[in-house]
Parts: sequence; structure tokens; C-alpha cells
Amino acid sequence: MRTGTLGVNLAGLLPIIRKYLYTHSDVFLRELIANGVDACQKMIAISASQNLNTDPTTLKVEIFVYPAKRQLVIRDNGIGMTEEEVERFLTVIAASSAKEFAEKYKETDIIGFFGMGFYSAFMVAEKVEVLTQSYLADAAGVRWVGDGSERYEISPAQRPEGRGTTITLHLSKEYDEYAQVWRVREVAEKYARFLPITIQVEGSTINQKPLWREHPTKVSEEEYKKFYKVLYPTLPEPVFHIHLNIDYPVNLQGILYFPPLRPEMVLQRNGLSLYVRGMFITDQLSEILPPYFELLHGAIESADIPLNVSRSQLQIDPTVRRISQYISRKVAEKLKELHASDRSQYEKLWEHVGPFVKYGMVRDEDFARRVKDIALVQGLDGKFYTLSEYKTQISSVRDPRGFSLGFYVNDAKKQGALAQLFQSKGYIVVQSDTVIDPYWLSYIEREDGIRMVRVDAEEAAKWLEAESTQGTLNLEEVKAVKEALERLTKLKVEPQALGENGPAALLLREEGQRRLREAALQGEIPPPSRLIFNSAHPIYKRYLLTQDGRWLEHVWDWARLLSGDLHEKDLQSFLARDWALLSGT
Ligand code: ADP
Repeated sequence: MRTGTLGVNLAGLLPIIRKYLYTHSDVFLRELIANGVDACQKMIAISASQNLNTDPTTLKVEIFVYPAKRQLVIRDNGIGMTEEEVERFLTVIAASSAKEFAEKYKETDIIGFFGMGFYSAFMVAEKVEVLTQSYLADAAGVRWVGDGSERYEISPAQRPEGRGTTITLHLSKEYDEYAQVWRVREVAEKYARFLPITIQVEGSTINQKPLWREHPTKVSEEEYKKFYKVLYPTLPEPVFHIHLNIDYPVNLQGILYFPPLRPEMVLQRNGLSLYVRGMFITDQLSEILPPYFELLHGAIESADIPLNVSRSQLQIDPTVRRISQYISRKVAEKLKELHASDRSQYEKLWEHVGPFVKYGMVRDEDFARRVKDIALVQGLDGKFYTLSEYKTQISSVRDPRGFSLGFYVNDAKKQGALAQLFQSKGYIVVQSDTVIDPYWLSYIEREDGIRMVRVDAEEAAKWLEAESTQGTLNLEEVKAVKEALERLTKLKVEPQALGENGPAALLLREEGQRRLREAALQGEIPPPSRLIFNSAHPIYKRYLLTQDGRWLEHVWDWARLLSGDLHEKDLQSFLARDWALLSGT
């Protein structure tokens, strides 16, 4: 046995490595698997050029865990190393590239900490043993042992399996998770299952076919669905997918899936994953793709994305920008194709595709220009309109400034009574119920010169064109009801004859203020600004006749119930009063 010192001064390196990789500790396994895979691929190349007749299907990287001993073993039957190579590769090249890496990326987060190399093993291990034997016919086995300091030991040794390399990590206590098979399988599957060399964890193969590399015309619907299950075993089926596959002007393959989106969706992140040469790099793609792609799932692969630059440099990298523009253009094209070729299918998908299209339009002008003609609004009756179709439909109703006026609901249940009134007067009331809709409405107002007003906005009530304000009451009676309601509600109260079946009373809120709140704070209802009572409703006659204030309390509660403002205690007293009034007590 001999001891040696590294040809590179590593002083202070390990604490730095540990610090940077602390939040990415899994990457050590990726790096060691990558080395094993490289060694196997080199073996294939050498075998071909030297007629060694190595069967490529026998080449593999195996991972074993020994929880009791706190050991993790990564073993490959690639080219192996001679003693001279161990000295050169591990103590000079590996050490200096780790040092260079650590120094260069001191303060920055490079994407997935790629290229850290062999020395990342010391982030989780106190001691690393390498047992290797070169493919060269007369090569002897070598053992190298290092503890992350400058000193290492090297000695001749027998490798029972012959050619290849076995790396044994003696894990430090705090990283004993990597001696657990479930944990190691999880990490290996995440990073390495699409690699072209067999990878086994405790004897079972984890490899999967990277479907994105296939030619789109050769992949069946069923295969796309099955592949989605590989990527997201627990999620429901996607509704639509786009397969990207190009070599020029950038190298890019990928499958983008549209997951079923719900109106109440939260913006999920970590949906799309980036791969380079089959290796998972990251699912934090905000520097590579526009933000609306966070809504999509799937995988993209490109050998052109530079991995060893900081995230901020990545954002301005011309190739990355080209890739980003290409993807967004391609997605717009595919959606347009579907819209043109099968509008009814497109309409069926709109519920799920719409949030992405809307978010994209709000965030990206180029994308907006591309998809403007295929963005849809849906009426409460279920009918879809493109923006220009909708504009034509509503062009007869104008606000005082000449803008076409459209009406919407964001909660078809709560605003249903009002919506019905508008519909009965021939207006198209559209649904606007996803989290992106408040922004999207403001966007189309700005771009299309229309004005969207919620049916329960003060402004909307004017368009109900009441036949009169009086209804079946005389002027004095109207005044009496109005004053009594004002005392009760502390709101501005106005009469309007809304017909016989209309709601007794409606709460209105100020449009602009509401939209802002909707956007900023999900779910919070701004206070009402005004109450309109239907002076044609028989309930007021009843009140005037009996002079029983409970009828008005009931009207007020009912209006609040309708707009989602009635809760708990008030709801209980509403129900109690309801029974009392019904039974005439
Ligand atoms: P990199 O892989 O980026 O060159 P590493 O620090 O990971 O840097 O490794 C340094 C060198 O050590 C590699 O280039 C390779 O020649 C050699 N090496 C590492 N692991 C293996 C292995 N499992 N089998 C054969 N050679 C290896």
C-alpha cells in the first residue's frame, strides 16, 4: 500500500461542496451513476474499435445498499481504470474539476449543480473506496481510499468481478438515508431511468424508454398515456399532448402534456422536467421557459442548454431564449391546428387548455398574438365564442364611452339569479371562474376595447332596463320600503321593477375594486356597496300589510345568501325565521 497527496490543493473544498450541495444532496448519486454510464459507453466504443466482442446488453451500473453498515455501493462493468489512471483521474482531474467547480460557482445556483463529478461523493460520505480494474488485458486491480482530505491510499487489489469499477461510500451519519433502498431507488429513478445503459437498484432494472425521442408519427395515443403514467404514476390522465422533435435551429425533443386543470387550480410548479442526454437535470425551469409553462407536465430534452452557467446567465443565454421561443411558438401552432381541424374537440378541451392559453396571453405578448384568434369565452348556456365572435355578438350594447359591454359571472351559483335576468333580456353572460380570469379579463378589455362587467356590479344593474322603479307599489310605499331597508342594511337602497320572478333583492359591488381583490386575494368578497330591491315582488306588499319587519330582514338575508355573504349564525336565524314566516307565527 502507498499513500499519496492529491496533486491539487483541496483545502477548504469539502465544506464548500457540502454547503452548496446541501439542498441538492441527491446530485452525488447522479454524478456517480453518470460516471458509471460513461465508463460503460466507453467500453462499447472501445469494444467496437478493437473488436473485443463485448455484448453491450451486459453492460450495466448496479446500486446496492447496506443499511447496517451505512454503505452505498455503485458498481459498473465499464472500462475500469489502471493504477496510473486512478492516480491521474481521481487525484488530479477529478480533484481539480471539483475545485474549479466549487470556486467558480461559489455564490450562484447553477442548474442542478451539474458537473460536480466524483468528489461530490464526499458530500455524503466520510470515506470513499474505489475498487477498479481496467479492461486492458494485463491490468491489475487497484484500490483507492480517500476521506476527502488531501491524503489518499492506493494499493493493488483483486476485483472479484474483473473489469469495471466499484465505488463504496461509507456514509456519514446524517446521510444514512442513502443506505435505504427506497430512498436510493427514488433518487436513481428520478435522475437515471431514461439513460441508455442498464441501471439496477438492488437487482431490479429501473430503465424506461424516453418516449420523447421517438418520431411523433410512430407513437400511439395509448403510448403517450402510458408514458404519462411513467412520469406521474399518481396523477389522472392528461387531456392533450404536444410532441416536439427538432434538430435545427436548436436541438430539442419533448412531450408537453396538458393535465386536467380545475377552475380552482393552484399554480403547480415542478410539472415539466429537463433532461440532457437522458439524465434528469431539473424540474425548476423558470429560467428556461416562460412562466405559463409551469401549468404543463412532461419532459423536454436538449443537448443545447448550457448547464454550467448560473441561473441568471441562463435566462439571457441566446440558445435558451431560442428554445423558449420555439416551444411557445410550437405550442401555439399545435393549438391553432386543433382549433382549425376539430373545433368541437378544441372546445371540449378548453376547460383545461384555456387557463394555459389565458395565462400565456397575459404574460407573453408574442404568444398572445399567436393565440388571440383561438382564445375562447364560454357563455353560461355552454356555447363557446372566439374573442372576435364574442365581440360581434355584444357590439350592440355600448357603455357611455362607446365600448362594447360584456357581462360575466365568476360564480354561476351565487350570481345565478342575476345572470338569469340578463340572459332573459338576451344578453350573453360568460363564465369567468379560473384564478387567471381576473387578469385575463383586464387584458382583453385593454386589447380588444371591450368592457367586462360582472352581473352583480352596480354598473350592470343599469342594463336591466327596469320597466319602472315602482312595480306594484305606489310611490309612497316604495319610499317606505326603501327607508326601512336602508335602516336595516346601512346601505344605499334603490327600487327597480325586475319582473315577477326576479329576486326580491340583490347586492351590488363596485366592479373595479372587486376585480382587484379577486386578483390579489382569492375568495375574499369585497363589501357590498348597494342593494337593489325588486319593487315588483309581492313580498313588499306583505310587509306593508303586516308591518312585520321580519319580511325585510328576510329579504336582506336572502340577498346575502345569494351572494355568498350569509354565514353561520345569520344562516341559522334565517332558517328559523323562514319556518316562522311560512307557518304564519
Ligand atoms: P468527469 O466525469 O466530469 O470527468 P469526475 O470527477 O466525475 O469528472 O471523474 C474524473 C474522471 O475519473 C473521469 O473523467 C473518468 O475518466 C474517471 N472515472 C470516474 N469514475 C469512473 C468509473 N466509474 N469508471 C471509469 N472511470 C471513471
